[in-house]
Amino acid sequence: MKYYSTRDENKIEFDSAQIIKQGLAADGGLFVPETLPAITEEEINRLCGMTYPERAAYVLSKFLTDYTYDELVNDCKEAYSETSFDGGAAPLKKVTDNIFSLELWHGPTAAFKDMALQIMPRLLSRALVKTGEINTALILVATSGDTGKAALEGYKDIDRIKIIVFYPVDGVSQVQKLQMATQTGNNVKVCAIKGNFDDAQTGVKKIFSDNDAKAKLLENKYVLSSANSINWGRLAPQIVYYISAYCDLINQKEIKYGETVNVCVPTGNFGNIFAAYIAKNMGLPLNKLICASNSNNVLTEFLETGTYDRNRNFHLTMSPSMDILISSNLERLIYFSSDAKTTASYMASLNKDGKYTVSNDIKDKISETFSGYYASEEETATTLKKFYTDYNYLADTHTSVALNCAEKYIAKNNDGKKMIVASTASPYKFAADVYKSITGSVAPEGTKALDALSELTGTVITIPLRGLSEKEVRFTDIIEASDMLEEVYKFM
Ligand SMILES: *Cc1c(COP(=O)(O)O)cnc(C)c1O
Repeated sequence: MKYYSTRDENKIEFDSAQIIKQGLAADGGLFVPETLPAITEEEINRLCGMTYPERAAYVLSKFLTDYTYDELVNDCKEAYSETSFDGGAAPLKKVTDNIFSLELWHGPTAAFKDMALQIMPRLLSRALVKTGEINTALILVATSGDTGKAALEGYKDIDRIKIIVFYPVDGVSQVQKLQMATQTGNNVKVCAIKGNFDDAQTGVKKIFSDNDAKAKLLENKYVLSSANSINWGRLAPQIVYYISAYCDLINQKEIKYGETVNVCVPTGNFGNIFAAYIAKNMGLPLNKLICASNSNNVLTEFLETGTYDRNRNFHLTMSPSMDILISSNLERLIYFSSDAKTTASYMASLNKDGKYTVSNDIKDKISETFSGYYASEEETATTLKKFYTDYNYLADTHTSVALNCAEKYIAKNNDGKKMIVASTASPYKFAADVYKSITGSVAPEGTKALDALSELTGTVITIPLRGLSEKEVRFTDIIEASDMLEEVYKFM
């Protein structure tokens, strides 16, 4: 399988190991596979009899053809082991007669980013060998919370890789801060910066485009790499769990092969839902993909009008991992709905004017598969409480946005098909807002909110979030955003 850039009309080809190492194409585009491999009824039936790690290796082998099957089986078994994912990697839980929650947060950091970031470092480590890279990869991450911790857990103590994470000192939750400050591993560093997420992000981008810095790093035998969700190495592992969920619906005797089901995904960067789109286009019997947003509803508007416009107010919500105005992975959908030339021109407008409008043809094509809905803060809280009270299902705030949008879709379209809702975080990761949504009153400060939620609901705190306040704090540095490069030099 070869890959090329979404913006390259000449379709210059790259191998899977190369694009995993490189992350972003040189022309600013994202890497996409030349064709989408098929997944047949016979294969689905075989996958039904397999464990999650086996399903993952099987699906990944269709895309990552530089890797041997044995390598993929080995890496998937390690990444998705029962020690890392308590209770299995992506269990499908029945919530109502037709709504099923695909719980993607049983990994080491209690958010769905683990599904990709537990496997991706292993793929990168092998990619360094396969591409003959002699230097150590230095991963730079700017995070608003979930990605940083998941990347740290994924890359810690991995050969020939070091990772440094920058987060805005006042821009992450107390739980997220503690999770990062107590990170273990010999090749990790965490740094708070004075400023907001954009300052952290801009600082990282600056280092990536600083040729003097790159030369100095290379002298010291380091090359920069990114753990961002635009890397295909993060996207490919996310295709697996939609196929796996479909198998589980068959195994649970909820459907027979061929019956189409809907999928609803709480969306930020458009990575998770794009993986569902790939699965559908491989032949998995999926019907509609419902793109769920919070009040940062730029995608809802895009799907409705065909205009993507990031010039709008930014809202801080209780589903902060979806507080995004530029959904980078949407570029891949635009590409699959048009061509490289069109994609490049829309992305240029986005860069210049912060917006673009797709042609009617492209809009119609996208509407065949996608529907967009959004939930306000109040609706998110009400839905969370309702699912807890009526169905005894405790969802986090992001999942709650998706549950609300799934219900809106069902009501509007009178569609009784089975619905898979991607559940992207443990309710304990956003304990304070979950507690408040249910009780109407403010939860106790810091990690005490977790205990309060446990007491209120009679559920147990998700394992990786237990005893956070007793863990050793290793990282306390707070630096100016302008000193980020200095910090990188110190680290290498
Ligand atoms: C990252 C994240 C999302 C958004 O996923 P995208 O792939 O960026 O669309 C949703 N929920 C949670 C909890 C997340 O961490």
